[in-house]
Amino acid sequence: MEEAIADLFEKLNLNDPSWQKYFSQITESSSLESIVWASWLLGLANCLQQRFAPAKQLIEQELSRRAQLPTSWTNCPHCGTRLHSKGMRDRQIQTLVGIVHWQRRVGRCPNGCKGSQVIPLDIALEIRSYQQTSLELVRLGCLLAIFVPFETVTVIIERFIGIKLNAQTIWSWVQFWGFQGMSHLQEEMAKLASGKEPTREIISSTLTEMPLVIGADGVMVPMRPHNGFPHGSIKWREVKVGILVRLGHHLNRKGREIVRLHQRRLVAVLGDIDALQSRLMLEALRQQWQKAKTVVWSA
Ligand SMILES: [Zn+2]
Repeated sequence: MEEAIADLFEKLNLNDPSWQKYFSQITESSSLESIVWASWLLGLANCLQQRFAPAKQLIEQELSRRAQLPTSWTNCPHCGTRLHSKGMRDRQIQTLVGIVHWQRRVGRCPNGCKGSQVIPLDIALEIRSYQQTSLELVRLGCLLAIFVPFETVTVIIERFIGIKLNAQTIWSWVQFWGFQGMSHLQEEMAKLASGKEPTREIISSTLTEMPLVIGADGVMVPMRPHNGFPHGSIKWREVKVGILVRLGHHLNRKGREIVRLHQRRLVAVLGDIDALQSRLMLEALRQQWQKAKTVVWSA
């Protein structure tokens, strides 16, 4: 049996010495869990080195194709002279399928103005100058961090995707995108205060027919006594929570009517009822509450 597995290893070209430990674990473990787990990790390691290669190649080729297209240079923000290409420069970024590399044109003011460097392809790709990780991976890390501590996020990502990250990295993503999200919300609230409504979500006519329920409540949440420091005893503070949901009806197999919630939207704020009220209004406008046939308020 072991020979059969060894043959399979050879056939799949799994001769990397670091994979030997998986081979031993697969042939020596007693439990099914351990056998499956070793095979899974082996598959992942193999994916990162070989199976994702076509995906990586595809991304790199597409980025190189775009980098070769003619660039229309903007003018220097300081002196107004048209920027010039300084040639191709290397770029790499960590993605869901491993690290991808490409080259793209960098432009600068011919008069040498400070801060005039521009990289049009980076701008088009929506990546920032010092960004080391592509957003699909950042998004996954931030989503997991909603539910589990940063250290655990790194364990989950490594186990299921095979990419090693450190907890500090996840923390910095959450900080950065958390602040981005908050400033976006502040902007939208300021606009609403000056009479400009937010962009509405597309609500189907089926949803418009359903009653819209808007509810609010408060929950006590344990917080650190001083922002950014773990010392001192826990302080309980109230978080106001609002929910907007459409009530649908559905007949089960026995013909009994069951209520189903659709288009669930949550709003939460560490603050008083006034802070919640403006956020709830913003979300209600996004959900087109005026078009709902019935609106139920529950608090
Ligand atoms: Zn200039």
